[in-house]
Amino acid sequence: MSQSRPQIKMGDKSFKTIPYKEEILNLIEEAHNGYQKEVIKHNGIKVTIENLLGPKMCLYWANMTLDVKESLNSCEESAVKRSNGPFGMIVLLILVCFIG
Ligand SMILES: [Zn+2]
Repeated sequence: MSQSRPQIKMGDKSFKTIPYKEEILNLIEEAHNGYQKEVIKHNGIKVTIENLLGPKMCLYWANMTLDVKESLNSCEESAVKRSNGPFGMIVLLILVCFIG
């Protein structure tokens, strides 16, 4: 990640990078597939968001939950295993991230 992107200070005083709009789809795809282009993991919404927020990617942007949901909804293979993503968990995760 380049240093030129804007950063946001989170509740736990860590910083997250705000990606450019045109990067977001690729980043979601990366997190959805567990960073490895060769192995398509089809992570659920929760894991995908955890990957995006996590120490490897350290990303945050407004509406990221919505963007991830929409992106994963368009993935046909993920539709098969899309039974493990309780929405409440995501809201909780976002809240934890903000409040720290
Ligand atoms: Zn998928």
